[in-house]
Amino acid sequence: IVLLLMIDYSFLLLVAYLIVFHVIFVLFVWTYWKSIFTLPLQPDKKFHMSYADKERYENEERPEVQRQILVEIARKLPVYTRTGNGAIRFCDRCQLIKPDRCHHCSVCAMCVLKMDHHCPWVNNCVGFSNYKFFLLFLMYSLLYCMYIAATVFKYVIKYWTDELTNGRSKFHVLFLLFVAVMFFLSLMFLFGYHCWLISRNRSTLEAFSAPVFQNGPDKNGFNLGFKKNLQQVFGEEKKLWLLPVVSSQGDGHSFPMRMLCESQNPLLANEEQWGDDGLDEENH
Ligand SMILES: [Zn+2]
Ligand SMILES: [Zn+2]
Repeated sequence: IVLLLMIDYSFLLLVAYLIVFHVIFVLFVWTYWKSIFTLPLQPDKKFHMSYADKERYENEERPEVQRQILVEIARKLPVYTRTGNGAIRFCDRCQLIKPDRCHHCSVCAMCVLKMDHHCPWVNNCVGFSNYKFFLLFLMYSLLYCMYIAATVFKYVIKYWTDELTNGRSKFHVLFLLFVAVMFFLSLMFLFGYHCWLISRNRSTLEAFSAPVFQNGPDKNGFNLGFKKNLQQVFGEEKKLWLLPVVSSQGDGHSFPMRMLCESQNPLLANEEQWGDDGLDEENH
């Protein structure tokens, strides 16, 4: 009877191992799939230059007047970030005014909304459309590696102490442990780094060079506090946080800013900012 119970127990454990393995495996493949095949988002049509504006811009030879043309076009758009020298961010190749946090990716040959980085592991741009999926992919691959390492470790020990003698699977088990631990370690650093970035609401690109606003660079320009930063990427509904379904806030074109949120009347602050710009323009 004791033997029967032991067989039963190890069988149940095996089934439990298999079920947990497949749950993690499905989540891992699902998030990887979504990270790879979610197309990066291009800015909306209204950010593209109209034909008339394009002609006016290209026929103008004086850079300061060109700059002024861009300021005029951008006045109708919700753009608050500038280039390092205070000009409107314009993409020559896509012929558009770049929305805040948007960058041109040379691999994808297009402007990508809230571009984070171009990732060769998923052969895709990580940006507004798939940042949540990418983070979940990192998390589930970590879990996957950890689970494999933990379940295989027992057998490595058994081979070590010569309790098992099947020579052929020895190599497989050792190799599995080695690969799982290697991937776990490298992913751990990447995941840790992205957790830090989310807590401060920065993209990888913004961590390298702070976004420039009308009153200068501010690396915390989009930082709204931990909870709001988290909600911006994962959404407000907690039950959707761990699933690779769309739940990020906003449309990727404009993002709430710390300065505007802190002031009592965001609309007024907005107008004041534009007002300053208007004054500059008159002085030119
Ligand atoms: Zn571009
Ligand atoms: Zn790209």
